[in-house]
Amino acid sequence: MRENNHDHKKCISIFKRLSEYLDGELDAKAYEEMRVHIKECVKCEVCLETLRRTVALCRNIKMQRVPDRLKERLKSMVHGSPNP
Ligand SMILES: [Zn+2]
Repeated sequence: MRENNHDHKKCISIFKRLSEYLDGELDAKAYEEMRVHIKECVKCEVCLETLRRTVALCRNIKMQRVPDRLKERLKSMVHGSPNP
């Protein structure tokens, strides 16, 4: 699937740093760059929202890590391949 005017590599690099983004661990420049991309990219926005919710849920039940299964699902969302 090809999308015009969309740098897919950017999505992948954004995905790798989503948890840093959520935790506020990025510097201002990197944060702003991601924020602008996410605002314009539905895929990344959905990923961010899903991760945000999951992280909140995990914290509620005192889990330290995001489940690998979810990470895989988000990764396939970003990569644009349908989940079997
Ligand atoms: Zn994106």
